[in-house]
Order: sequence, then structure tokens, then C-alpha cells
Amino acid sequence: MKAWFSSMVCAAAIGLSVGAPARAADDPAPAIALRVMPINDHLTAFYQGRPDEASVKPGPKHWPDLGAIFVGVATYAIHQGDTAVVYDTFTDTASAQWVRDYLAKVGVRRFILVNSHWHLDHIGGNAVYADSMRIATEATRQKLTDKRAAIEDGTEEGPPAIKPLLVPNIGIAPGNTVTLMVGTVRVLLHPEAIHSADGLVIELPDDKILLAGDTLEDTATFVAEPQTIPQQYSNLGAMRQWGFTRILPNHGNPQVIAKGGYGLGLIDMTRAYIRRLVEHSHDADFQTQTLESYVGDAVKRGDVSVWWAYHEAHANNLAVVAKAWKDQPIPAFDTLP
Ligand SMILES: [Zn+2]
Repeated sequence: MKAWFSSMVCAAAIGLSVGAPARAADDPAPAIALRVMPINDHLTAFYQGRPDEASVKPGPKHWPDLGAIFVGVATYAIHQGDTAVVYDTFTDTASAQWVRDYLAKVGVRRFILVNSHWHLDHIGGNAVYADSMRIATEATRQKLTDKRAAIEDGTEEGPPAIKPLLVPNIGIAPGNTVTLMVGTVRVLLHPEAIHSADGLVIELPDDKILLAGDTLEDTATFVAEPQTIPQQYSNLGAMRQWGFTRILPNHGNPQVIAKGGYGLGLIDMTRAYIRRLVEHSHDADFQTQTLESYVGDAVKRGDVSVWWAYHEAHANNLAVVAKAWKDQPIPAFDTLP
């Protein structure tokens, strides 16, 4: 999510990443507690946030609250033996260091960082992996390089700044799937232009699991790039055919994630949601159409549940879709590939 104001890599290359330094005793603890959710013997979710609305104190809110903590944020580690692939780094280095320390305690010495996309709540703790191989799409590398100064001085999304910003050092070109082996676990990195053009999702084909990044969310996707909704709709349809049966998003219900994730209905509801946004964007009452009216049928099917913090995300979605589509003809979604 984004805050709402505003060719093959050789598997053997894994051996290039070096050992973990010991954690300094004075490292700060994460401001928001982390929950550890083992998904299976080589996949672990780390989860932070999603407070009840009543427990949120009044006062100024910043991008980590709005983009990640209030909706809840997960990162993932695929690990076997002394090696782990870590998928995203939370909003800050203290949280990322906590994850690294946790993995080090269970024997991980070699880390490979993979970033799902450039949004700040996914890269805030990258600095913890200065000694490691760091992979993203080439588009993410480019975006973060271009925005480095603004991110480091806290003007990209407002404070807090991310300083230093550590940009991934390996970029995957569009259309290339990269295979990594973590011990015996096959890890496929797929560039996927959904939610943001620079997206990267992870497939674990032997587990039939998709780590979806921000391409899918419960309660509803955050529309960051409204102009490309028809292409995202098609890309979601194609991704649905890959063969996975469980989905673990970065922003979802912790109870569902802890139980192993979502079914393919999460893709169906996301496609229906973004399609409806565009199809209704010329309605006179578009700006007041409720989240419930958009996701009610998916809630009834059990695909998602309504979480309070998504009302603001939905309001943002209505605003950006109206702006992008007000003078555009509505595409015939049924004829899209
Ligand atoms: Zn995002």
C-alpha cells in the first residue's frame, strides 16, 4: 500500500551474500510489536499493526500509520538451513532488524532481500541488509534511485524520512522470472504490473503459495495507478491461472494469514472491485459510494472482511479513479484478454 496523501539470476549466486553481523545491544526495539506466524516449515510470516479503531490515539498521522500499521502489514521469510529470502522490510529498521535477529536465532546466516515494489512501507528497513544481495524489479531500482533524495529527507510522503535508503542491487527486467533455490525450496520471482507498474510477486510452486505483495489486499486493493486498471485487471486474470491455491498478501487479516492465507476468491474480488470503480466512475454519486457496496458480495462469500482503516483507502480510490477516468470512455472489461 502507499500512504494516501499524496533474465535469470544463477541460484549459485546465493552463496555470495555474507554472514549476519551481531545485533548491537542498543538497537531500539520496534515501536509496534511483531507477531510471528509459521505458515509451514520453511515459510514464516511476520505481522505488525491492525489496531482496533477505538485504540488509535488522536493526533497527527504519518505514512507508516496510514499506509501500513492501521491496515496491518506482513513481511515473509522463506528459509531452510542457513539461508533465507526475506520479502520486504516493514516501515523502519527496528522492525526489519527484529525479523533478521529472529531468523539469525534459528540459524540463518545468509540473507537475500526481495522487495515487492517501491512503496515506502515495504522498503523502510532495507538498511538492515547492507551486507546482503538485494533483489527487486529493475523498475523498482530505478524508481528508488530517482526518489532517493526525497525519501531520505522525508519529503516523498512526509516524515519520517528513511535514511539511509538502501536500494536493491539486482534488478529483474520485465517478463523475466527468476528462480532461486533456498535449500530444496523453489522460489520464483515474477515481475507483475499490478497495483504498481514495478511490482514483484513470489511464487512457491511446490507449496502452491503466492506471496502477493500489494497486488491483493483484504479489505480491498489500494489504487495507486488508476490509469492502468484495465491492464491490471487482465494481469490479475492471468496470474490466477498459475496454479497456486493459497495467497499471502502484505496487507491482510492476521487471522487468515496465520491459518495459511486466502483462496483464489481474493483475486476474483480484487478484479471485481477495480472493474466496478472504473465502470461507476461517471456516476453522479460516485464519490459517496461505500466500501460496503463494493465488497458486500465478497464479504458474504467469505473472501474478505471489512476492516475500518480501509474506508479511508476506499475514499482515496474513489478520488483517484474519478480524476483519471472522468473524461475517458469506460472500457468493455468483458472483452479484455
Ligand atoms: Zn503499495
